Amino acid sequence: TAPFLSVRDLHVQFATEDGTVKAVDGLSFALERGETLGIVGESGSGKSVTNLAVLGLHNPRNTTITGEIVLDGQELTGASQRTLERLRGNKMSMIFQDSLTALSPYYTVGRQIAEPYMKHTGASKKEARSRAIEMLARVGIPQPQTRVDDFPHQFSGGMRQRAMIALALVCDPELLIADEPTTALDVTVQAQILDLLKDLQQETGTAIILITHDLGVIAHTADNVVVMYAGRAMERGTVRDILKSPEHPYAWGLLSSIPRITASVDIPLSPIPGTPPSLLNPPSGCPFHPRCAFKDQVPGDLCATERPQLAPGRASACHLTTEQKHDIFNEQIQPR
Ligand code: SF4
Ligand code: MG
Repeated sequence: TAPFLSVRDLHVQFATEDGTVKAVDGLSFALERGETLGIVGESGSGKSVTNLAVLGLHNPRNTTITGEIVLDGQELTGASQRTLERLRGNKMSMIFQDSLTALSPYYTVGRQIAEPYMKHTGASKKEARSRAIEMLARVGIPQPQTRVDDFPHQFSGGMRQRAMIALALVCDPELLIADEPTTALDVTVQAQILDLLKDLQQETGTAIILITHDLGVIAHTADNVVVMYAGRAMERGTVRDILKSPEHPYAWGLLSSIPRITASVDIPLSPIPGTPPSLLNPPSGCPFHPRCAFKDQVPGDLCATERPQLAPGRASACHLTTEQKHDIFNEQIQPR
Protein backbone atom coordinates (compact mmCIF):
# COMPACT_ATOMS: atom_id res chain seq x y z
CA THR A 1 0.00 0.00 0.00
CA ALA A 2 1.09 3.58 -0.64
CA PRO A 3 2.57 5.55 2.27
CA PHE A 4 0.47 8.29 3.87
CA LEU A 5 2.75 10.98 2.44
CA SER A 6 5.02 10.25 -0.47
CA VAL A 7 7.44 12.78 -1.96
CA ARG A 8 9.22 11.60 -5.08
CA ASP A 9 11.98 13.27 -7.05
CA LEU A 10 10.92 16.70 -5.85
CA HIS A 11 12.58 19.69 -7.51
CA VAL A 12 11.89 23.23 -6.36
CA GLN A 13 13.46 26.05 -8.36
CA PHE A 14 13.24 29.81 -7.90
CA ALA A 15 13.71 32.24 -10.74
CA THR A 16 15.86 35.13 -9.49
CA GLU A 17 17.57 38.07 -11.18
CA ASP A 18 20.85 36.20 -11.00
CA GLY A 19 19.55 32.92 -12.38
CA THR A 20 17.79 29.79 -11.25
CA VAL A 21 18.16 28.70 -7.63
CA LYS A 22 17.85 24.94 -7.22
CA ALA A 23 16.52 24.95 -3.67
CA VAL A 24 15.44 21.29 -3.74
CA ASP A 25 17.12 19.02 -6.23
CA GLY A 26 15.61 15.55 -6.52
CA LEU A 27 14.35 14.73 -3.02
CA SER A 28 12.35 11.61 -2.13
CA PHE A 29 10.94 10.49 1.21
CA ALA A 30 7.89 8.78 2.67
CA LEU A 31 6.00 9.19 5.90
CA GLU A 32 3.41 6.98 7.60
CA ARG A 33 0.59 7.98 9.96
CA GLY A 34 1.69 8.30 13.56
CA GLU A 35 5.32 8.60 12.50
CA THR A 36 7.74 11.50 12.96
CA LEU A 37 10.21 12.19 10.19
CA GLY A 38 13.07 14.49 11.10
CA ILE A 39 14.50 16.57 8.29
CA VAL A 40 17.84 17.91 9.44
CA GLY A 41 20.38 20.22 7.86
CA GLU A 42 21.97 23.64 8.00
CA SER A 43 19.99 26.66 6.88
CA GLY A 44 19.80 26.81 3.11
CA SER A 45 19.76 23.01 2.84
CA GLY A 46 16.24 23.08 1.39
CA LYS A 47 14.44 21.64 4.38
CA SER A 48 12.02 24.53 4.87
CA VAL A 49 11.47 24.99 1.14
CA THR A 50 10.53 21.32 0.82
CA ASN A 51 7.81 21.70 3.37
CA LEU A 52 6.48 24.96 2.01
CA ALA A 53 6.08 23.04 -1.26
CA VAL A 54 4.16 20.27 0.51
CA LEU A 55 1.88 22.89 2.06
CA GLY A 56 1.53 24.76 -1.22
CA LEU A 57 2.84 27.95 0.41
CA HIS A 58 5.52 28.73 -2.16
CA ASN A 59 5.12 31.74 -4.42
CA PRO A 60 3.72 30.34 -7.69
CA ARG A 61 4.97 33.36 -9.66
CA ASN A 62 8.67 32.61 -9.32
CA THR A 63 8.70 28.99 -8.19
CA THR A 64 8.71 25.86 -10.33
CA ILE A 65 7.92 22.56 -8.67
CA THR A 66 8.28 19.21 -10.36
CA GLY A 67 8.03 15.70 -9.00
CA GLU A 68 5.35 14.08 -6.94
CA ILE A 69 3.81 14.95 -3.60
CA VAL A 70 1.00 12.54 -2.75
CA LEU A 71 -0.85 12.96 0.55
CA ASP A 72 -3.27 10.17 1.40
CA GLY A 73 -3.86 9.41 -2.27
CA GLN A 74 -4.16 13.04 -3.34
CA GLU A 75 -1.59 14.58 -5.69
CA LEU A 76 -0.56 18.01 -4.38
CA THR A 77 1.95 19.30 -6.91
CA GLY A 78 -0.75 20.01 -9.47
CA ALA A 79 -3.49 20.91 -6.98
CA SER A 80 -5.27 24.26 -7.20
CA GLN A 81 -4.71 26.96 -4.58
CA ARG A 82 -8.33 26.38 -3.56
CA THR A 83 -7.72 22.72 -2.85
CA LEU A 84 -4.51 23.46 -0.97
CA GLU A 85 -6.24 26.10 1.11
CA ARG A 86 -8.93 23.63 2.07
CA LEU A 87 -6.28 21.11 3.12
CA ARG A 88 -4.19 23.60 5.08
CA GLY A 89 -5.19 24.03 8.70
CA ASN A 90 -7.50 21.06 8.27
CA LYS A 91 -5.84 17.92 6.92
CA MET A 92 -2.35 19.40 7.15
CA SER A 93 -1.10 22.04 9.47
CA MET A 94 2.10 23.76 10.56
CA ILE A 95 4.02 25.25 13.44
CA PHE A 96 6.81 27.73 12.86
CA GLN A 97 9.74 28.85 14.98
CA ASP A 98 8.52 32.31 15.73
CA SER A 99 5.17 32.35 17.50
CA LEU A 100 5.31 36.14 17.89
CA THR A 101 4.98 36.67 14.16
CA ALA A 102 2.76 33.66 13.54
CA LEU A 103 0.18 34.80 16.07
CA SER A 104 -1.41 38.18 15.41
CA PRO A 105 -0.87 40.70 18.21
CA TYR A 106 -4.30 42.22 17.54
CA TYR A 107 -6.55 39.28 18.38
CA THR A 108 -6.92 37.16 21.47
CA VAL A 109 -5.28 33.76 21.48
CA GLY A 110 -8.70 32.15 21.79
CA ARG A 111 -10.09 33.90 18.75
CA GLN A 112 -7.08 32.86 16.66
CA ILE A 113 -7.60 29.23 17.63
CA ALA A 114 -11.38 29.41 17.16
CA GLU A 115 -11.31 30.99 13.71
CA PRO A 116 -9.87 28.11 11.63
CA TYR A 117 -12.11 25.73 13.55
CA MET A 118 -15.20 27.67 12.50
CA LYS A 119 -13.91 27.96 8.94
CA HIS A 120 -13.15 24.27 8.46
CA THR A 121 -15.88 22.64 10.55
CA GLY A 122 -18.73 25.14 10.32
CA ALA A 123 -18.93 25.29 14.12
CA SER A 124 -20.69 28.20 15.80
CA LYS A 125 -18.82 30.94 17.66
CA LYS A 126 -19.77 29.43 20.98
CA GLU A 127 -18.71 25.92 19.98
CA ALA A 128 -15.44 27.24 18.61
CA ARG A 129 -14.71 29.11 21.83
CA SER A 130 -15.17 26.02 23.95
CA ARG A 131 -13.04 24.11 21.47
CA ALA A 132 -10.32 26.76 21.90
CA ILE A 133 -10.51 26.37 25.69
CA GLU A 134 -10.33 22.60 25.33
CA MET A 135 -7.26 22.91 23.06
CA LEU A 136 -5.50 25.31 25.46
CA ALA A 137 -6.12 22.82 28.26
CA ARG A 138 -4.72 19.99 26.12
CA VAL A 139 -1.48 21.84 25.46
CA GLY A 140 -1.06 22.55 29.16
CA ILE A 141 -2.07 26.20 29.48
CA PRO A 142 -3.21 26.78 33.09
CA GLN A 143 -6.67 28.32 33.63
CA PRO A 144 -7.63 28.05 29.98
CA GLN A 145 -11.10 29.54 30.61
CA THR A 146 -9.44 32.86 31.48
CA ARG A 147 -6.31 32.68 29.35
CA VAL A 148 -8.42 32.15 26.23
CA ASP A 149 -9.13 35.91 26.27
CA ASP A 150 -5.46 36.91 26.60
CA PHE A 151 -3.49 38.49 23.79
CA PRO A 152 -0.28 36.76 22.64
CA HIS A 153 1.99 39.28 24.41
CA GLN A 154 0.42 38.24 27.72
CA PHE A 155 1.81 34.72 27.22
CA SER A 156 5.40 33.66 27.89
CA GLY A 157 7.46 32.34 24.95
CA GLY A 158 6.82 28.74 25.96
CA MET A 159 3.08 29.37 26.40
CA ARG A 160 2.90 31.05 23.00
CA GLN A 161 4.50 28.00 21.44
CA ARG A 162 1.92 25.84 23.20
CA ALA A 163 -0.82 28.12 21.87
CA MET A 164 0.63 27.71 18.37
CA ILE A 165 0.43 23.95 18.78
CA ALA A 166 -3.18 24.31 19.93
CA LEU A 167 -3.87 26.39 16.84
CA ALA A 168 -2.13 23.89 14.56
CA LEU A 169 -4.04 20.95 16.02
CA VAL A 170 -7.48 22.50 16.46
CA CYS A 171 -8.88 20.81 13.32
CA ASP A 172 -7.25 17.41 14.03
CA PRO A 173 -4.78 17.51 11.12
CA GLU A 174 -3.41 14.23 9.84
CA LEU A 175 -0.09 15.82 8.90
CA LEU A 176 1.71 18.37 11.06
CA ILE A 177 4.79 20.18 9.80
CA ALA A 178 6.89 21.71 12.56
CA ASP A 179 9.68 23.99 11.34
CA GLU A 180 12.26 24.60 14.10
CA PRO A 181 9.39 24.54 16.63
CA THR A 182 11.61 24.91 19.70
CA THR A 183 14.64 26.81 18.43
CA ALA A 184 13.68 30.06 20.15
CA LEU A 185 13.07 28.41 23.54
CA ASP A 186 15.40 27.54 26.41
CA VAL A 187 16.43 23.94 26.94
CA THR A 188 13.88 23.03 29.60
CA VAL A 189 10.92 24.51 27.77
CA GLN A 190 12.18 22.98 24.53
CA ALA A 191 12.07 19.49 26.05
CA GLN A 192 8.57 20.14 27.44
CA ILE A 193 7.27 21.25 24.05
CA LEU A 194 8.78 18.22 22.28
CA ASP A 195 7.25 15.93 24.92
CA LEU A 196 3.90 17.62 24.42
CA LEU A 197 4.09 17.07 20.66
CA LYS A 198 4.91 13.41 21.23
CA ASP A 199 2.01 12.96 23.68
CA LEU A 200 -0.46 14.62 21.34
CA GLN A 201 0.82 12.48 18.49
CA GLN A 202 0.18 9.35 20.53
CA GLU A 203 -3.40 10.46 21.18
CA THR A 204 -4.19 11.50 17.62
CA GLY A 205 -1.93 9.46 15.31
CA THR A 206 -0.85 12.62 13.48
CA ALA A 207 2.10 12.23 11.14
CA ILE A 208 4.78 14.83 11.90
CA ILE A 209 7.56 16.30 9.80
CA LEU A 210 10.02 17.94 12.13
CA ILE A 211 12.45 20.35 10.50
CA THR A 212 15.53 21.27 12.49
CA HIS A 213 19.23 22.08 12.36
CA ASP A 214 19.61 20.41 15.74
CA LEU A 215 20.31 16.70 16.07
CA GLY A 216 19.38 16.99 19.76
CA VAL A 217 15.80 17.73 18.75
CA ILE A 218 15.86 14.82 16.32
CA ALA A 219 17.12 12.48 19.05
CA HIS A 220 14.25 13.52 21.28
CA THR A 221 11.45 13.18 18.79
CA ALA A 222 11.99 11.52 15.41
CA ASP A 223 11.49 7.94 14.24
CA ASN A 224 13.18 8.34 10.86
CA VAL A 225 15.56 10.98 9.60
CA VAL A 226 16.57 12.56 6.31
CA VAL A 227 19.79 14.58 6.35
CA MET A 228 19.68 17.34 3.73
CA TYR A 229 22.44 19.36 2.13
CA ALA A 230 22.28 21.68 -0.87
CA GLY A 231 18.70 20.66 -1.62
CA ARG A 232 19.47 16.94 -1.65
CA ALA A 233 19.13 14.04 0.74
CA MET A 234 22.60 13.00 1.88
CA GLU A 235 21.56 10.24 4.23
CA ARG A 236 18.42 8.45 5.29
CA GLY A 237 17.80 6.04 8.16
CA THR A 238 16.16 5.48 11.52
CA VAL A 239 16.99 7.96 14.25
CA ARG A 240 19.22 5.27 15.76
CA ASP A 241 21.10 4.80 12.48
CA ILE A 242 21.73 8.51 12.14
CA LEU A 243 22.85 9.05 15.73
CA LYS A 244 24.73 5.80 16.39
CA SER A 245 26.20 4.88 13.02
CA PRO A 246 25.95 7.78 10.59
CA GLU A 247 27.63 7.12 7.25
CA HIS A 248 27.88 10.45 5.51
CA PRO A 249 30.73 12.91 6.18
CA TYR A 250 28.20 15.74 6.38
CA ALA A 251 26.21 13.84 9.03
CA TRP A 252 29.49 13.33 10.94
CA GLY A 253 29.95 17.09 10.87
CA LEU A 254 26.46 17.67 12.25
CA LEU A 255 27.04 15.09 14.95
CA SER A 256 30.38 16.51 16.08
CA SER A 257 28.84 19.95 16.28
CA ILE A 258 26.72 18.96 19.29
CA PRO A 259 28.65 18.22 22.49
CA ARG A 260 25.82 16.22 24.02
CA ILE A 261 22.95 14.63 22.15
CA THR A 262 20.43 15.72 24.78
CA ALA A 263 20.10 19.29 25.96
CA SER A 264 21.31 21.28 22.99
CA VAL A 265 19.86 24.54 21.92
CA ASP A 266 20.97 26.85 19.19
CA ILE A 267 24.40 25.35 18.93
CA PRO A 268 25.74 26.63 15.63
CA LEU A 269 26.94 24.18 13.05
CA SER A 270 30.15 26.14 12.49
CA PRO A 271 32.39 23.19 13.42
CA ILE A 272 31.93 22.01 9.85
CA PRO A 273 34.57 24.13 8.11
CA GLY A 274 33.48 26.12 5.09
CA THR A 275 30.07 27.45 4.16
CA PRO A 276 27.02 25.91 2.49
CA PRO A 277 27.26 26.07 -1.29
CA SER A 278 25.53 28.53 -3.56
CA LEU A 279 22.37 27.02 -4.96
CA LEU A 280 22.70 29.25 -8.02
CA ASN A 281 25.85 27.41 -9.06
CA PRO A 282 25.93 24.24 -7.00
CA PRO A 283 29.24 22.34 -6.90
CA SER A 284 29.71 19.58 -9.46
CA GLY A 285 29.74 15.98 -8.31
CA CYS A 286 29.07 15.60 -4.60
CA PRO A 287 27.73 18.97 -3.36
CA PHE A 288 29.65 18.51 -0.10
CA HIS A 289 33.04 17.99 -1.76
CA PRO A 290 34.39 21.53 -1.27
CA ARG A 291 34.02 21.03 2.51
CA CYS A 292 34.68 17.30 2.81
CA ALA A 293 37.75 16.12 4.73
CA PHE A 294 37.48 12.58 3.34
CA LYS A 295 37.33 13.09 -0.41
CA ASP A 296 41.02 12.12 -0.77
CA GLN A 297 40.06 8.61 0.27
CA VAL A 298 37.94 8.24 -2.86
CA PRO A 299 39.94 7.26 -5.97
CA GLY A 300 40.38 9.73 -8.82
CA ASP A 301 38.34 12.91 -8.73
CA LEU A 302 35.03 11.08 -8.47
CA CYS A 303 33.84 13.35 -5.63
CA ALA A 304 34.22 16.46 -7.78
CA THR A 305 32.82 14.97 -10.96
CA GLU A 306 30.17 12.39 -10.21
CA ARG A 307 27.04 12.92 -8.18
CA PRO A 308 26.68 10.12 -5.62
CA GLN A 309 23.17 8.63 -5.66
CA LEU A 310 21.04 7.79 -2.65
CA ALA A 311 19.84 4.19 -2.75
CA PRO A 312 16.38 3.35 -1.34
CA GLY A 313 15.99 2.50 2.36
CA ARG A 314 18.86 2.98 4.79
CA ALA A 315 21.45 4.72 2.64
CA SER A 316 23.93 7.56 2.22
CA ALA A 317 24.87 9.44 -0.93
CA CYS A 318 28.67 9.25 -0.74
CA HIS A 319 31.38 7.61 -2.87
CA LEU A 320 33.21 6.10 0.11
CA THR A 321 32.76 2.34 0.35
CA THR A 322 30.52 0.95 3.08
CA GLU A 323 33.60 -0.37 4.83
CA GLN A 324 35.34 3.01 4.69
CA LYS A 325 32.22 4.71 6.09
CA HIS A 326 32.12 2.35 9.06
CA ASP A 327 35.87 2.39 9.69
CA ILE A 328 36.23 6.17 9.52
CA PHE A 329 33.25 6.70 11.81
CA ASN A 330 34.33 4.12 14.36
CA GLU A 331 38.01 5.07 14.40
CA GLN A 332 38.04 8.83 13.83
CA ILE A 333 34.66 10.39 14.49
CA GLN A 334 33.04 8.57 17.39
CA PRO A 335 35.92 8.48 19.90
CA ARG A 336 36.26 12.29 20.01
FE1 SF4 B 1 33.01 13.47 0.79
FE2 SF4 B 1 33.24 12.35 -1.61
FE3 SF4 B 1 31.54 11.34 0.16
FE4 SF4 B 1 31.03 13.68 -0.98
S1 SF4 B 1 31.14 11.70 -1.99
S2 SF4 B 1 30.82 13.21 1.16
S3 SF4 B 1 33.08 14.53 -1.14
S4 SF4 B 1 33.78 11.42 0.34
MG1 MG C 1 14.37 27.19 7.72
